[in-house]
Amino acid sequence: MSQGTLFIISAPSGAGKTSLVRELIESLDGIQVSVSHTTRAQREGEVDGVNYHFTDPATFEAMIERGEFFEHACVFGNYYGTSRRSVQTILDVGQDVILEIDWQGARQVREQMPEAVSIFILPPSREELERRLAGRGTDEHAVIAKRMQEAVSEMSHYAEYDYLVINDDFTTALEELQALVISRRLTRHNMQHRHAPLLAALLSREPGVE
Ligand code: 5GP
Repeated sequence: MSQGTLFIISAPSGAGKTSLVRELIESLDGIQVSVSHTTRAQREGEVDGVNYHFTDPATFEAMIERGEFFEHACVFGNYYGTSRRSVQTILDVGQDVILEIDWQGARQVREQMPEAVSIFILPPSREELERRLAGRGTDEHAVIAKRMQEAVSEMSHYAEYDYLVINDDFTTALEELQALVISRRLTRHNMQHRHAPLLAALLSREPGVE
């Protein structure tokens, strides 16, 4: 069975990654997001098994011991990880996979799968990032400053990625992500795989046909 492409998408909090990825998979066929495991608390509106598999630390550690994670990392005090099973079930049906993970996870994935395509989403300016991180304005200055520090720390790894997308205008950023996925599907390697019968038919040298 043909294998899809694995896309790693990272971004600092406030860059709009989650909304962009949601629109990306709604707008294209044949691509799914891998659902991660995490030990962080479930937020309002999040659904277990959809946004994350919410897991207690003991279960998460047991999964690490059993080698069930493709990658895992501690991000801002909580465990996050991609199970091997969640990725493989998507690749096995020939679909592309998106991993929404941090830079530590991205490094682990590149080591195991150098052909993975990695994309980093950036905010359009420092001011805009600060504005997005301030949210509804109810958070204390120290909380916002800490979020900003964490965002800068994540962004400091942008140069490890293959592609950079700046989320200034949402539609433009979405089109850029779509272009990356589509161009990957059109590589000769992937096309040869997907269209083997067509290529064989086009090149057949039946008698009488020149
Ligand atoms: P949040 O808690 O806001 O959903 O995510 C916090 C951070 O954890 C984000 O940078 C996100 O990309 C990262 N993250 C989410 N799932 C995974 C995962 O499975 N593995 C790794 N390494 N990072 C993850």
